[in-house]
Amino acid sequence: MKFIADRMLGKLARELRMLGYDTVYYRGENTYPLIKLAREEGRVILTRSTQFGSKRPEDRIVRITEDKPSLQLRELIQRKIISLLEEPPFSRCLVCNTLLIEIRREEAEGKVPDFIFYQQREFFRCPQCARVYWQGSHQDHMKKRIERLKNGR
Ligand SMILES: [Zn+2]
Repeated sequence: MKFIADRMLGKLARELRMLGYDTVYYRGENTYPLIKLAREEGRVILTRSTQFGSKRPEDRIVRITEDKPSLQLRELIQRKIISLLEEPPFSRCLVCNTLLIEIRREEAEGKVPDFIFYQQREFFRCPQCARVYWQGSHQDHMKKRIERLKNGR
């Protein structure tokens, strides 16, 4: 399942990417390009807005009711829009949504802080924006988060 999140849902977009979901974050105010992109790419629209311009029966629009960003991911799970781990987690760039590629450890040297380089074994790079990722603290944090979400908390 692929998503497009409106400008109110930046944090949710990042978390969905962390879970591996292909998620476009649309920052514009005008909803027409958002709907157009959703139709072209078969994306489910995630929005906080109650009014959406032109609607067709094939448009899939999920209105997020929770206004706390920390609870919006749980809302998607509780409403069974997504289920955890149907996509490989940590496979996408959190910033630009591109699939990451694994790189050799040597390639990460100088591109991450030294202590990270010495601590970590596996590194990944975004082919689009060149950010380097590693199996680090944000992943541990998110893994714990996933565990809690599995237990409905
Ligand atoms: Zn990127």
